[in-house]
Amino acid sequence: MDKCSFCGREKKEVNLLIAGIDGHICDRCAEQAHAIILEEIKKEMPFDLDGAKLMKPREIKEFLDQYVIGQDHAKKILSVAVYNHYKRLSQRVNDDETEIEKSNIILVGETGTGKTLLARTIARMLHVPFTIVDATVLTEAGYVGEDIESLLTRLLQVADYNVEAAERGIVFIDEIDKIARKGDNPSITRDVSGEGVQQGLLKLLEGSIVNVPPQGGRKHPEQKMIPVNTKNILFICGGAFDGIERKIAQRLNTKVIGYGAAKEAERIDRENLLQYISPQDLKSFGMIPEIIGRLPVLAYLDPLDRDTLRKILTEPKNSVIRQYVKLFDLDGIELQFDEEALQYIVDKAVEFKLGARGLRSICESIMIDAMFDSPSADMNKLHIDVEYAQNKLDRSSLHRLKAS
Ligand code: ADP
Repeated sequence: MDKCSFCGREKKEVNLLIAGIDGHICDRCAEQAHAIILEEIKKEMPFDLDGAKLMKPREIKEFLDQYVIGQDHAKKILSVAVYNHYKRLSQRVNDDETEIEKSNIILVGETGTGKTLLARTIARMLHVPFTIVDATVLTEAGYVGEDIESLLTRLLQVADYNVEAAERGIVFIDEIDKIARKGDNPSITRDVSGEGVQQGLLKLLEGSIVNVPPQGGRKHPEQKMIPVNTKNILFICGGAFDGIERKIAQRLNTKVIGYGAAKEAERIDRENLLQYISPQDLKSFGMIPEIIGRLPVLAYLDPLDRDTLRKILTEPKNSVIRQYVKLFDLDGIELQFDEEALQYIVDKAVEFKLGARGLRSICESIMIDAMFDSPSADMNKLHIDVEYAQNKLDRSSLHRLKAS
């Protein structure tokens, strides 16, 4: 009588009995074994704490190049900052008196130019816990919204509550510009969402022990706080800082008055003023000096031109187009795009002012019918030319939305 060699159940008692050379295993035991394996793997390598392996800045940039198009300035600055950060972590305590300071980073650039992508790619490279939080949901303790500590809750969660791993993670704080002080006078009224939050962020950025609610929020007042040391957490802040160009221009204009001014003014590229950004401009925008001091690495991102958008479509390792090709390939269908069709997609992204983020939604509108129909159709090739793309997009809600 065949029975499971693990639990002893007989064939008629189980759904499935798999035969091996000298024994059998039932479906239940196989599933249980699978769960044990997963558990063990997780235990062994939740995060590769030494995974930083101190890649050199050049190697870090090469890695970023695989996923992020252009943005050479930001990549270079980030590569050095990340290298220094992890070098600092590997430094033995009391090595000598020189303590390397933490290099938190602030990225300034229009929305959709790759700030989050850069931060995410770095975390992927380092195999450290990574989370994205939105600064707009943060408020000072006691107000409606999330306490500042809650941004570490997410980090703990992605680290599976492995505090040691979380303490070496990366937190990306998006829309940092939205907590800029509004107006020049700092304290006529209490500024709940702006300056107060900046003040609250200070201790996190610089490194201190913070009591983190493991479930987040205030819904679980009984939860036991977990102390997390933020000393080695790398904070990357990102923001569009709409209108900061005006502050930059003002500063440049005052500076170039006087001898040689005309010559210097000539050299200023007015189309992309962001490249001249300095900490001073962040202050004029409404960031408090203490915050700026704790974000010592400042990098800007370039606006995306047509050429860059075209590259973003196909060149990154997991580019949108490559993903579609892969999806169809899994159904045994060879998918091809005409260059003209790709140019058309870029044109539309520019026209709709959707930037890189729009490339995906445009492709989605073009491909949705094919993705619905082709798995059941008898076909092994699909060719997307510009007429096809145009036709599909014209009928899509995306087009109607933008045309109105
Ligand atoms: P943000 O600057 O607003 O944080 P994101 O990094 O979220 O922008 O970019 C939005 C999307 O646009 C990304 O998911 C990515 O696919 C694409 N993208 C933006 N910039 C680039 C870039 N330089 N290289 C490759 N893809 C990019």
